[in-house]
Amino acid sequence: MDVQFTVKRVGVVHSCLKEKFGIPRQPGMAPSVTASLELLPPFDREEMVRELENFSHVWVQFYFHRAVEDGWKTTVRPPRLGGKKRVGVFASRSPHRPNYIGLSAVKLTGVRREKGKIFLDLAGVDLLDGTPVVDIKPYIPYSDCISEAEDGYTRVKISRTEVRFTEEADRFCAHYERETGRELRQLIVELVGLDPRPPFQKKSRKEFGMLLWDVNVRWRVCGNSFEIEKLIRHE
Ligand code: SAM
Repeated sequence: MDVQFTVKRVGVVHSCLKEKFGIPRQPGMAPSVTASLELLPPFDREEMVRELENFSHVWVQFYFHRAVEDGWKTTVRPPRLGGKKRVGVFASRSPHRPNYIGLSAVKLTGVRREKGKIFLDLAGVDLLDGTPVVDIKPYIPYSDCISEAEDGYTRVKISRTEVRFTEEADRFCAHYERETGRELRQLIVELVGLDPRPPFQKKSRKEFGMLLWDVNVRWRVCGNSFEIEKLIRHE
């Protein structure tokens, strides 16, 4: 029997990550990526988040809404394995899964009411701006934190590459931060330092770009580091 479910959207994520390229592959990898999760009607009720602010982290279950266009796959090539080895989709955290459901444990920095709306302030997210949220649960260390857990990809180390800025890019950051209060420079160091290039472009010398808030960040490989060449503000 094929059982059909209806899943309701309880909220939406507002983040600085405006496109898929450059988003960390898991939460917590770039702590400076902040986001707000807006509860949507009829779930925007204070009693639904009562006592939640007492938890430091939450599980966010969400819909990979921008993976649907490419469909789901039975096997995938995790970038962490260099993009060469195929594993079953259920042995991966790929967005291209049958129900496009994602799961991220993220830091909860606040619960706020503003202009009649309720927002959860989050940090260290791996979520595209506009991501629909289907559930929120507190992270419970005594059960969710499994100290003896083994990672099937353990041989693969997560490295961080040095990120340098041209003088022009440095000036842009200082000006942008003064004007908006957003910590753009640190955010770029964390995101670009994770080397978001797809495995098949690891030798590429071309210019890469990613959109953070309204800033197009242009960078390329420079020796053993990455250089932020220019930052262009979108109108
Ligand atoms: N932590 C989640 C999980 O394990 O289910 C997500 C892991 S998935 C590997 C993270 C990647 O999903 C990001 O690097 C980004 O490219 C992509 N992504 C994030 N939000 C998305 C969305 N709303 N639609 C499609 N892809 C998304």
